[in-house]
Amino acid sequence: MRQTDKIVVVGAGQAGATLVQRLRELGFDGSLTLVGSEPHLPYQRPPLSKAYLLGDMDLDGLTLRPQAFYDDLKIELKLGRPVTAIDKREHKISVGDEVLDYDHLALVTGSDPIRLPEALGGHLPGVHVVRGLADIDAIEPEIVAGRKALIVGGGYIGLEAAAVCAKRGLDVTLVEAAPRILQRVAAKETSNYFRALHESHGVKLLEGSKLSHFVGDDRVTGALLDDGVMLEADFVICGIGIRPSVGLAEAAGLVIENGISTNSFAQTSEPNIWAAGDCASFLFNGNRIRLESVGNAIDQSKIVAENIVASLKGEALKPYMAKPWFWSDQYDVKLQIAGLHTGYNRIVTRDSGAGVMSFWYYRNDELVALDAMNDPRAYMVGKRLIEAGKTADPAIVADADTDLKVLMKR
Ligand code: FAD
Repeated sequence: MRQTDKIVVVGAGQAGATLVQRLRELGFDGSLTLVGSEPHLPYQRPPLSKAYLLGDMDLDGLTLRPQAFYDDLKIELKLGRPVTAIDKREHKISVGDEVLDYDHLALVTGSDPIRLPEALGGHLPGVHVVRGLADIDAIEPEIVAGRKALIVGGGYIGLEAAAVCAKRGLDVTLVEAAPRILQRVAAKETSNYFRALHESHGVKLLEGSKLSHFVGDDRVTGALLDDGVMLEADFVICGIGIRPSVGLAEAAGLVIENGISTNSFAQTSEPNIWAAGDCASFLFNGNRIRLESVGNAIDQSKIVAENIVASLKGEALKPYMAKPWFWSDQYDVKLQIAGLHTGYNRIVTRDSGAGVMSFWYYRNDELVALDAMNDPRAYMVGKRLIEAGKTADPAIVADADTDLKVLMKR
């Protein structure tokens, strides 16, 4: 590596912060710049719909590293400055009027929340999304006990927002177009668990209910559903999914395929441009997927750092081996998820009572994923087995009196 090498990282989020730190840990001592469109130091997003929205965490707790950390490591931060163009032939990027050269470029631009179109009233004041600090600043004044919150979307973000609003004393209704909440990401057993949990906290869940449009003149006042039901709302939070932020990469001519397409080394279609985190797609068990999770943002960006350094040294590149995991906090329940449930055809339930429960997903005899509710031991054992490519005897899993550790010894 030469001190004259230049690396630019675009996107100062979870993956960006990890990547620059890892590059310095690996001894990269050339020029390192982290450019981010948000004005904040890189911060973690999960608490935005959990502890931070609840008021149990402040900005310091959210921020990944203080300014001094970047100063000490000689990482130049350009914050509040979106990168507007990439010239991949000349190895330059534009940050407004400023042009930066790079030898290696990493794109960790994350994703954007899907917003409902203006024709459906998605533009009305009082209709919110939850992606960044600016969104929370807008939502926070809305959360006043006794007000009516309408949540659109019964995925993790919608359910977490519903839990916060219910805990803060609001009257909460959640509308989900699919026949059940969490349909895209979990088995019906997990949906049933969380439906019961939310209903026990007074949340009204309307599943299989499609929004027709929002109503209101200067501000949202409610929503009309396809079946003619009119719901009143003082404000709305939409959690209807995200799209990978690929505009910059696409305009630069990089291959886009369900996100910025990367090979097994996290390289885009341009060998000295890399991608990681929410914006990057890669092959996993033969399917091109993206993982929208902190674990993936961290692990994949570390591989990018390692492979950039390997390229600079002329060494072999390492493949990215994704180990999917995720979590969600709702009320006093911590859900921990390991693996990907795609293609499962059987669920085995382990019920230890008092809401401590886990659902184990099998594809024939193979354990592919698990959802563990307030059961960190089940999560830990299941995760290790899945990552080691081992399965778990369903009879042992289903017997809550058996110590799961025996599964590790097989
Ligand atoms: P981000 O953290 O989104 O960072 C991308 C950054 O790039 C952004 O700051 C963006 O502004 C910037 N950017 C985009 N374009 C440009 C440009 N042209 N120029 C400069 N900068 C640019 N995951 C879990 O595992 N568990 C959870 O419980 C969980 N909860 C979540 C709750 C919420 C409310 C949200 C929003 C996400 C949650 N996630 C959770 C997902 C997790 O936070 C993301 O997967 C993770 O942040 C992805 O990291 P990233 O670095 O790829 O993207």
